[in-house]
Amino acid sequence: MTAKLIKGTEIREQILEEITAEVAQIKEKHGVVPGLVTILVGENPASVSYVTLKIKTAHRVGFKEVQDNQPEDISEEQLLALIDKYNKDDSIHGILVQLPLPKHIDEKKVLNAIDPDKDVDGFHPVNVGRLMIGGDEVKFPPCTPAGIQEMIVRSGVETSGAEVVVVGRSNIVGKPIANMMLQKGPGANSTVTVVHTRTRDLAYHCKRADILIVAAGVPGLVKPEWIKPGACVIDVGVNRVGEKISEKTGKKVAILRGDVDFEAAKEIAGYITPVPGGVGPMTITMLMKNTLKSLKFRLGID
Ligand code: NAD
Repeated sequence: MTAKLIKGTEIREQILEEITAEVAQIKEKHGVVPGLVTILVGENPASVSYVTLKIKTAHRVGFKEVQDNQPEDISEEQLLALIDKYNKDDSIHGILVQLPLPKHIDEKKVLNAIDPDKDVDGFHPVNVGRLMIGGDEVKFPPCTPAGIQEMIVRSGVETSGAEVVVVGRSNIVGKPIANMMLQKGPGANSTVTVVHTRTRDLAYHCKRADILIVAAGVPGLVKPEWIKPGACVIDVGVNRVGEKISEKTGKKVAILRGDVDFEAAKEIAGYITPVPGGVGPMTITMLMKNTLKSLKFRLGID
């Protein structure tokens, strides 16, 4: 069997087009657009490139975008004051602080200072709690898990009653996606197992999965023989395994691999996400969706 590829790059385009159309409609009817601020402290090259992509995408879908770059030596107090300013700014509906922050700043304190109603990353404890309760309580599901669920749903994979196995229990991927898949409602209603470094028999659990979501950060961790024939495999892992010269630009670029042995797994699975081009493009897309949602909550529209 050759699995159907779930391409994040294609799903991203569909969703961004939907967002662009909705933003134009809201602008015409209500005279406002979603506002997203990204706060970048210092000049970490990876962070600079993530923030640039977020701002570029926000611009593309018609948002007001503010890129607020701060020096590496900004004090915690100054950063908290900046967040307070954006919390009070009515033209801003989403506040994103790019992580990691320099060591002299308490990351938790900073994230917790963001107004939960503008926390479009979904990391504030209030939003984590809302996600746990589920249903109408959920405001901003964290972006990577939200992207994973969207990919599964848009690919037409049945989730109700499905055995979902999540490899990894991080706060940004494993735990939230496990929680989302077990909720009552469309795109969920699954029976969920979470496995991690202390799990006795990883293979046993993976083999039972109708939907296998892997977020471990270990290249090739999931072996092809652990995959149930016809299963949907979502590979969240992004691992740098070397470098190559890009044919397009002639520059050195990283060789990326997922947590699943893709070439062998695609012959067994029913659906599979590639790395790169799978889950990766969905994260920023869902950030845009959350920022649009934030404005809609403010306007009291669905
Ligand atoms: P993390 O390191 O915080 O968590 C990894 C989890 O996997 C841990 O809970 C650990 O128990 C489990 N794990 C690790 N090795 C294991 C093993 N050998 N057996 C069983 N369980 C094991 O990582 P994270 O932030 O959740 O990210 C996981 C991967 O997903 C990374 O490769 C990361 O780069 C990628 N990621 C991608 C996106 C995206 O595409 N947008 C977003 C977030 C993370």
